[in-house]
Amino acid sequence: MTIALQDIRKSFAGTEVLHGISVEIAPGQVTALIGPSGSGKSTLLRCVNLLEIPDSGTLTLGDERLSFTPGVRPAQDAIQRIRLQTGMVFQNFQLFAHQSALQNVMEGLVTVKRWPRERARARALQLLDKVGLHDKADAWPNNLSGGQQQRVAIARALALEPAVLLCDEPTSALDPGLAAEVVSVLGDLAREGMTMLMATHDLRLAAQIASHTVFMQDGNVVEAGGARTIFENAQDARTRDFVRTLT
Ligand code: ADP
Ligand code: MG
Repeated sequence: MTIALQDIRKSFAGTEVLHGISVEIAPGQVTALIGPSGSGKSTLLRCVNLLEIPDSGTLTLGDERLSFTPGVRPAQDAIQRIRLQTGMVFQNFQLFAHQSALQNVMEGLVTVKRWPRERARARALQLLDKVGLHDKADAWPNNLSGGQQQRVAIARALALEPAVLLCDEPTSALDPGLAAEVVSVLGDLAREGMTMLMATHDLRLAAQIASHTVFMQDGNVVEAGGARTIFENAQDARTRDFVRTLT
Protein backbone atom coordinates (compact mmCIF):
# COMPACT_ATOMS: atom_id res chain seq x y z
CA MET A 1 0.00 0.00 0.00
CA THR A 2 1.28 3.47 -0.86
CA ILE A 3 2.52 5.65 1.98
CA ALA A 4 2.78 9.32 1.07
CA LEU A 5 3.70 12.21 3.33
CA GLN A 6 3.38 15.72 1.98
CA ASP A 7 4.90 18.66 3.81
CA ILE A 8 4.39 17.12 7.27
CA ARG A 9 5.20 19.45 10.15
CA LYS A 10 5.27 18.63 13.85
CA SER A 11 6.16 20.73 16.88
CA PHE A 12 6.51 19.85 20.54
CA ALA A 13 5.88 22.71 22.98
CA GLY A 14 6.48 25.32 20.29
CA THR A 15 9.65 23.74 18.91
CA GLU A 16 9.27 22.38 15.41
CA VAL A 17 11.01 19.00 15.00
CA LEU A 18 9.67 18.02 11.54
CA HIS A 19 10.05 20.90 9.10
CA GLY A 20 7.83 19.89 6.21
CA ILE A 21 8.67 16.28 5.37
CA SER A 22 7.66 14.80 2.03
CA VAL A 23 8.28 11.11 1.39
CA GLU A 24 6.58 8.66 -0.94
CA ILE A 25 6.78 4.88 -0.63
CA ALA A 26 5.31 2.70 -3.35
CA PRO A 27 3.35 -0.47 -2.54
CA GLY A 28 5.74 -3.30 -1.62
CA GLN A 29 8.68 -0.96 -1.28
CA VAL A 30 10.99 -1.22 1.73
CA THR A 31 12.50 2.08 2.81
CA ALA A 32 15.17 2.62 5.45
CA LEU A 33 14.96 5.87 7.37
CA ILE A 34 18.45 6.83 8.50
CA GLY A 35 19.90 9.83 10.25
CA PRO A 36 21.56 10.96 13.47
CA SER A 37 19.87 10.61 16.82
CA GLY A 38 17.36 13.42 17.28
CA SER A 39 16.82 13.98 13.56
CA GLY A 40 13.11 13.13 13.83
CA LYS A 41 12.93 9.51 12.61
CA SER A 42 10.77 8.22 15.48
CA THR A 43 8.50 11.24 15.33
CA LEU A 44 8.03 10.71 11.60
CA LEU A 45 7.11 7.03 12.08
CA ARG A 46 4.71 8.02 14.85
CA CYS A 47 3.10 10.54 12.50
CA VAL A 48 2.44 7.76 9.98
CA ASN A 49 0.38 5.67 12.43
CA LEU A 50 -0.94 8.81 14.15
CA LEU A 51 0.54 8.04 17.55
CA GLU A 52 1.46 11.71 16.97
CA ILE A 53 -0.93 13.95 15.07
CA PRO A 54 1.01 16.14 12.60
CA ASP A 55 0.35 19.89 12.84
CA SER A 56 0.03 20.31 9.10
CA GLY A 57 0.57 18.48 5.83
CA THR A 58 -1.13 15.48 4.27
CA LEU A 59 -0.81 11.77 4.98
CA THR A 60 -1.96 9.22 2.41
CA LEU A 61 -2.17 5.52 3.17
CA GLY A 62 -3.64 3.66 0.23
CA ASP A 63 -7.11 5.13 -0.29
CA GLU A 64 -7.11 7.00 3.03
CA ARG A 65 -6.02 10.62 2.85
CA LEU A 66 -5.88 12.96 5.84
CA SER A 67 -4.87 16.62 5.83
CA PHE A 68 -3.92 18.26 9.11
CA THR A 69 -4.65 21.72 10.45
CA PRO A 70 -2.91 23.15 13.53
CA GLY A 71 -5.01 22.65 16.65
CA VAL A 72 -7.61 20.48 14.92
CA ARG A 73 -7.69 16.79 15.80
CA PRO A 74 -8.94 14.60 12.93
CA ALA A 75 -12.08 12.55 13.52
CA GLN A 76 -11.41 9.46 15.63
CA ASP A 77 -12.80 7.09 12.98
CA ALA A 78 -10.37 8.53 10.41
CA ILE A 79 -7.50 8.04 12.87
CA GLN A 80 -8.68 4.49 13.54
CA ARG A 81 -8.86 3.62 9.84
CA ILE A 82 -5.22 4.71 9.38
CA ARG A 83 -4.07 2.89 12.52
CA LEU A 84 -5.66 -0.37 11.41
CA GLN A 85 -3.57 -0.24 8.22
CA THR A 86 -0.29 0.01 10.14
CA GLY A 87 1.69 -2.37 12.32
CA MET A 88 4.51 -0.99 14.48
CA VAL A 89 7.61 -2.65 15.88
CA PHE A 90 9.60 -0.82 18.55
CA GLN A 91 13.25 -0.89 19.61
CA ASN A 92 12.43 -2.25 23.08
CA PHE A 93 9.81 -4.79 21.86
CA GLN A 94 7.04 -3.51 24.19
CA LEU A 95 5.50 -6.95 24.73
CA PHE A 96 2.88 -7.35 27.44
CA ALA A 97 5.07 -8.79 30.22
CA HIS A 98 2.20 -10.55 31.98
CA GLN A 99 1.14 -12.46 28.86
CA SER A 100 2.69 -15.46 27.08
CA ALA A 101 4.06 -15.11 23.55
CA LEU A 102 0.83 -16.62 22.22
CA GLN A 103 -1.37 -14.26 24.25
CA ASN A 104 0.63 -11.27 23.04
CA VAL A 105 -0.06 -12.23 19.42
CA MET A 106 -3.74 -13.15 20.07
CA GLU A 107 -4.58 -9.99 21.97
CA GLY A 108 -5.49 -7.73 19.04
CA LEU A 109 -7.47 -10.46 17.28
CA VAL A 110 -9.62 -10.95 20.38
CA THR A 111 -9.99 -7.32 21.49
CA VAL A 112 -9.98 -5.45 18.16
CA LYS A 113 -11.32 -8.01 15.71
CA ARG A 114 -13.51 -9.78 18.30
CA TRP A 115 -12.49 -13.19 17.01
CA PRO A 116 -13.41 -16.20 19.16
CA ARG A 117 -10.40 -17.31 21.24
CA GLU A 118 -9.93 -20.60 19.38
CA ARG A 119 -9.76 -18.90 16.00
CA ALA A 120 -7.41 -16.22 17.36
CA ARG A 121 -5.22 -18.92 18.92
CA ALA A 122 -4.92 -20.84 15.65
CA ARG A 123 -3.98 -17.66 13.75
CA ALA A 124 -1.49 -16.61 16.44
CA LEU A 125 0.20 -20.03 16.26
CA GLN A 126 0.55 -19.63 12.49
CA LEU A 127 2.16 -16.24 13.00
CA LEU A 128 4.55 -17.56 15.65
CA ASP A 129 5.45 -20.33 13.21
CA LYS A 130 6.16 -17.72 10.54
CA VAL A 131 8.72 -16.02 12.81
CA GLY A 132 10.24 -19.37 13.85
CA LEU A 133 8.77 -19.47 17.37
CA HIS A 134 6.04 -22.10 17.22
CA ASP A 135 7.68 -23.94 20.14
CA LYS A 136 7.76 -20.78 22.30
CA ALA A 137 4.01 -20.10 22.28
CA ASP A 138 3.67 -20.60 26.03
CA ALA A 139 6.89 -18.84 27.02
CA TRP A 140 6.80 -15.57 28.96
CA PRO A 141 8.63 -12.58 27.48
CA ASN A 142 11.13 -12.60 30.36
CA ASN A 143 12.21 -16.11 29.42
CA LEU A 144 12.85 -15.26 25.78
CA SER A 145 16.01 -13.77 24.26
CA GLY A 146 15.78 -10.23 22.92
CA GLY A 147 15.73 -11.59 19.37
CA GLN A 148 12.88 -13.93 20.24
CA GLN A 149 10.96 -11.14 21.96
CA GLN A 150 11.33 -8.94 18.90
CA ARG A 151 10.09 -11.76 16.66
CA VAL A 152 7.02 -12.15 18.90
CA ALA A 153 6.52 -8.40 18.57
CA ILE A 154 6.68 -8.72 14.78
CA ALA A 155 4.13 -11.57 14.86
CA ARG A 156 1.90 -9.38 17.02
CA ALA A 157 2.27 -6.44 14.64
CA LEU A 158 1.21 -8.70 11.75
CA ALA A 159 -1.83 -10.16 13.52
CA LEU A 160 -4.28 -7.52 12.33
CA GLU A 161 -2.94 -7.86 8.77
CA PRO A 162 -1.63 -4.32 8.39
CA ALA A 163 -0.91 -3.07 4.89
CA VAL A 164 2.26 -1.36 6.06
CA LEU A 165 4.82 -2.22 8.72
CA LEU A 166 6.64 0.55 10.59
CA CYS A 167 9.80 -0.40 12.49
CA ASP A 168 11.63 1.90 14.89
CA GLU A 169 15.22 0.69 15.33
CA PRO A 170 14.06 -2.94 15.47
CA THR A 171 17.56 -4.38 15.96
CA SER A 172 19.21 -1.64 18.03
CA ALA A 173 18.70 -3.35 21.38
CA LEU A 174 20.09 -6.68 20.15
CA ASP A 175 23.51 -8.33 19.97
CA PRO A 176 24.59 -9.01 16.38
CA GLY A 177 23.60 -12.69 16.42
CA LEU A 178 20.11 -11.96 17.71
CA ALA A 179 19.77 -8.98 15.39
CA ALA A 180 20.46 -11.37 12.49
CA GLU A 181 17.36 -13.44 13.41
CA VAL A 182 15.25 -10.31 13.27
CA VAL A 183 16.82 -9.11 10.02
CA SER A 184 16.04 -12.52 8.53
CA VAL A 185 12.35 -12.32 9.51
CA LEU A 186 12.05 -8.75 8.20
CA GLY A 187 13.76 -9.86 4.99
CA ASP A 188 11.13 -12.60 4.54
CA LEU A 189 8.37 -9.99 4.93
CA ALA A 190 10.07 -7.70 2.44
CA ARG A 191 10.23 -10.52 -0.13
CA GLU A 192 6.53 -11.24 0.45
CA GLY A 193 5.79 -7.69 -0.65
CA MET A 194 5.07 -5.94 2.66
CA THR A 195 5.38 -2.16 2.40
CA MET A 196 7.84 -1.14 5.10
CA LEU A 197 9.35 1.99 6.58
CA MET A 198 12.09 1.32 9.12
CA ALA A 199 14.21 3.71 11.10
CA THR A 200 17.55 2.01 11.64
CA HIS A 201 21.27 2.37 12.30
CA ASP A 202 21.77 -1.24 11.22
CA LEU A 203 23.63 -1.29 7.94
CA ARG A 204 22.56 -4.87 7.22
CA LEU A 205 18.92 -3.91 7.56
CA ALA A 206 19.30 -0.66 5.66
CA ALA A 207 21.52 -1.84 2.82
CA GLN A 208 20.40 -5.46 2.36
CA ILE A 209 16.65 -5.40 2.94
CA ALA A 210 15.67 -1.87 1.98
CA SER A 211 15.48 -0.96 -1.69
CA HIS A 212 15.17 2.74 -0.87
CA THR A 213 16.67 5.05 1.74
CA VAL A 214 15.67 8.39 3.19
CA PHE A 215 18.34 10.36 5.07
CA MET A 216 17.05 12.84 7.65
CA GLN A 217 18.90 15.45 9.63
CA ASP A 218 17.52 18.10 11.99
CA GLY A 219 13.93 17.46 10.99
CA ASN A 220 14.50 17.65 7.24
CA VAL A 221 14.92 15.08 4.50
CA VAL A 222 18.42 15.77 3.17
CA GLU A 223 18.46 13.09 0.49
CA ALA A 224 16.26 10.20 -0.65
CA GLY A 225 16.73 7.58 -3.31
CA GLY A 226 17.64 4.01 -4.10
CA ALA A 227 19.51 2.31 -1.24
CA ARG A 228 22.55 1.58 -3.42
CA THR A 229 22.69 5.17 -4.58
CA ILE A 230 22.55 6.52 -1.04
CA PHE A 231 25.12 4.06 0.30
CA GLU A 232 27.56 4.17 -2.61
CA ASN A 233 26.98 7.44 -4.41
CA ALA A 234 25.26 9.96 -2.13
CA GLN A 235 25.11 13.45 -3.59
CA ASP A 236 25.03 15.42 -0.32
CA ALA A 237 28.18 15.56 1.83
CA ARG A 238 26.05 15.27 4.99
CA THR A 239 24.64 11.98 3.72
CA ARG A 240 28.10 10.65 2.84
CA ASP A 241 29.45 11.59 6.28
CA PHE A 242 26.55 9.90 8.05
CA VAL A 243 26.64 6.72 5.96
CA ARG A 244 30.27 6.24 7.01
CA THR A 245 29.18 6.07 10.67
CA LEU A 246 26.83 3.09 10.13
CA THR A 247 28.04 -0.34 11.18
P1 ADP B 1 15.20 10.23 16.30
O1 ADP B 1 14.21 9.11 16.36
O2 ADP B 1 15.73 10.50 14.93
O3 ADP B 1 16.31 10.07 17.29
P2 ADP B 1 13.06 11.79 17.50
O4 ADP B 1 11.95 11.79 16.53
O5 ADP B 1 12.99 10.88 18.65
O6 ADP B 1 14.44 11.58 16.70
O7 ADP B 1 13.25 13.25 18.07
C1 ADP B 1 13.32 14.41 17.23
C2 ADP B 1 13.30 15.64 18.14
O8 ADP B 1 12.00 15.75 18.72
C3 ADP B 1 14.29 15.58 19.28
O9 ADP B 1 14.79 16.85 19.48
C4 ADP B 1 13.43 15.15 20.46
O10 ADP B 1 13.96 15.62 21.65
C5 ADP B 1 12.10 15.79 20.13
N1 ADP B 1 10.94 15.04 20.67
C6 ADP B 1 10.53 13.81 20.25
N2 ADP B 1 9.42 13.43 20.92
C7 ADP B 1 9.11 14.44 21.77
C8 ADP B 1 8.06 14.66 22.73
N3 ADP B 1 7.11 13.76 22.93
N4 ADP B 1 8.08 15.83 23.42
C9 ADP B 1 9.04 16.76 23.20
N5 ADP B 1 10.05 16.61 22.31
C10 ADP B 1 10.10 15.47 21.61
MG1 MG C 1 14.26 7.35 17.40
